[in-house]
Amino acid sequence: MANAKPHWMADAEEKHAAALQLAFETGTLARCRRHGECTFRGAKPLQAALALGEACYRAGSLASVYGSREEMISALEAVYREHWRSECPLCTKWMDE
Ligand SMILES: [Zn+2]
Repeated sequence: MANAKPHWMADAEEKHAAALQLAFETGTLARCRRHGECTFRGAKPLQAALALGEACYRAGSLASVYGSREEMISALEAVYREHWRSECPLCTKWMDE
């Protein structure tokens, strides 16, 4: 996945997608098995995703996405805030009905 694209070319969507990917990898965010597009909080804290992000950033694998470490942290915090539910809203709805 190495490319020569400078960091300033990564758009907001790409930053968002990369943050989500990190959060999924650490189990900070999870995806519903039944509703693939549903995202909610996993078993791991935000710190787990931040730690992985930090390691990847230092290894240089996120340098084409984020212009700075701070930018990466705020992207991770944003996706975490965005997906605040503890379980899939669609599954919860089914159980309630
Ligand atoms: Zn679901």
